[in-house]
Amino acid sequence: MERPRFQGEDMTREIIRKDPAYAATANMPDYAREAATFTWQAARARLSGLPGGRLNIAHEALDRHLATPAADRIALRWIARDGTRRDFTYRALVAETARFAGVLRALGVARGERVYSLLGRVPELYVAALGTLKAGSVFCPMFSAFGPEPIQARMEIGGARVLVTSQALYRKKVAPVRDRLPELKDVLLIDGDGSIEGTRDLAALMAAAPAEFPAEPMAPEDMALLHFTSGTTGRPKGAVHVHEAVVAHHVTGVLALDLRPDDVFWCTADPGWVTGTSYGIVAPLTVGATMIVDQAEYDAERWYRILEEEKVTVWYTAPTAIRMLMKAGAEMAKARDLSHLRFMASVGEPLNPEAVVWSDVVFGRPFHDNWWQTETGGIMIANYASMDVKPGSMGKPLPGIVAGIVEASAAGVREVTRAGAIGELALRPGWPSMMRAYLHEEARYDKCFSCGWYLTGDLALRDEDGYYWFVGRADDVIKSSGHLIGPFEVESALMEHPAVAEVGVIGIPDETAGEIVKAYVALKPGHRESEDLRLDLLGHARRRLGPAVAPKEIVFRPALPRTRSGKIMRRLLKARELGLPEGDLSTLEGDEA
Ligand code: AMP
Repeated sequence: MERPRFQGEDMTREIIRKDPAYAATANMPDYAREAATFTWQAARARLSGLPGGRLNIAHEALDRHLATPAADRIALRWIARDGTRRDFTYRALVAETARFAGVLRALGVARGERVYSLLGRVPELYVAALGTLKAGSVFCPMFSAFGPEPIQARMEIGGARVLVTSQALYRKKVAPVRDRLPELKDVLLIDGDGSIEGTRDLAALMAAAPAEFPAEPMAPEDMALLHFTSGTTGRPKGAVHVHEAVVAHHVTGVLALDLRPDDVFWCTADPGWVTGTSYGIVAPLTVGATMIVDQAEYDAERWYRILEEEKVTVWYTAPTAIRMLMKAGAEMAKARDLSHLRFMASVGEPLNPEAVVWSDVVFGRPFHDNWWQTETGGIMIANYASMDVKPGSMGKPLPGIVAGIVEASAAGVREVTRAGAIGELALRPGWPSMMRAYLHEEARYDKCFSCGWYLTGDLALRDEDGYYWFVGRADDVIKSSGHLIGPFEVESALMEHPAVAEVGVIGIPDETAGEIVKAYVALKPGHRESEDLRLDLLGHARRRLGPAVAPKEIVFRPALPRTRSGKIMRRLLKARELGLPEGDLSTLEGDEA
């Protein structure tokens, strides 16, 4: 979402002062001191590791707690759609994940091979994630609202060897593309009953597997997680994360989310997106906290009930949800006893200053915005419990992280240190959860780095107090309800429709979702615009892409603006949509210019 109004805006208004009593007891009572003394080596020492310098995320998240008072604490409280709960202690999760790892071993799945999941938020997803890591294989979660095309692309790129899913999701989304996935050997169904050919019943396999499986001792640089993200062009990119990432998951959970062993932590993100894995699985478990997982989708009444009944102490959610809660009204929150809430954080899209101020009034404490992305694997910039909050700002870099604002020139990129200057947000590489590659895409990976900086693709500024402010994306990628959507993936799906000649896809501002996906379509000769055709295109896109990615709006145009080299000018579509200056049109092709 573009935030042009930050330029010249008085960014010091409405500062929300820290609560000194709470700040003094926070995991990081003094940001400046921690930033000055922090080392990744010391952060590593907070975890136990395995003999010989080896480690395993599953060991840090689960097994090491067996020797501590956390062993019989609830690790995962799962709330089913119908409200029933299922609790898993750390001890129980150790055993369940051992069984899952044993299943992989029995199937001959090797270290480093990829195990995918396509599941809603059900316990089996969490068991599969940690069991896969325990076995030394690589876990790749997919969002269950994806349609067959994004699913096929992701499994193809990552060479999926195993898929864990359900009967319904398999039938609808995987069966139609299975013959295009020759590397996919085993499909494990959480509700399998032998009725679908080419699949196995996970429960039966688990029942036959032993309840013990010591976590594979992995090298810190061994691949552990594969998370797909989208770029402006081309296919989705598989960001590779390694076992050592757990050091950053843990320490960011401690410093940025103020997590402690006695916390009840609710991260509302789905593990199909990176937040739902780094903070919806790994970080809270490494701390020894209790995490809440709700199977159901957002519902204001239900969310407030969960916060109250589960006595949630730390809550990590996203701006779209916060805006929906604002719409539902403060009364709903005030009717509940939310006195257990100690810390509230938000991520994924720009968090409007009004939402921060609103939360401070309604909950008696503000949402603390933080910034990171799939590639960084963990929180990079944050508002901390011990820091004053400037509503609208993403906060300051995590101790151990060096951030900067850079500008591109012929000689590469150069840091701009002047307060208030807008440029690309960049980070000095070297933290443990940084991606190590885009799988099979060296050139795309290399393009992310210049002159010793990792370039984030976001525009931002830093104010005179060192707080970072999001300004907009430097590329055409769309953020809708917190989900990153590549316009190219949407365009490609629409191009498959027989009536479509060309497509341009952009994000347009939306009060609740931040942005929504809008497609501009030019038709082939012989096809005429009509409401029926528009609905047919919308249906086609939803079937192929799934509701989270498909466009919400489609409009027809006789032709689309293209550069002389033939690329659709999404920027121009957007400028025209929003009535903004059209900028430099010198590369615009033919008649349109
Ligand atoms: P993803 O890789 O899907 O997690 O998306 C990362 C992108 O989301 C970032 O590059 C930003 O464009 C956006 N984003 C994440 N957190 C924030 C935030 N706190 N404020 C503004 N944009 C954010």
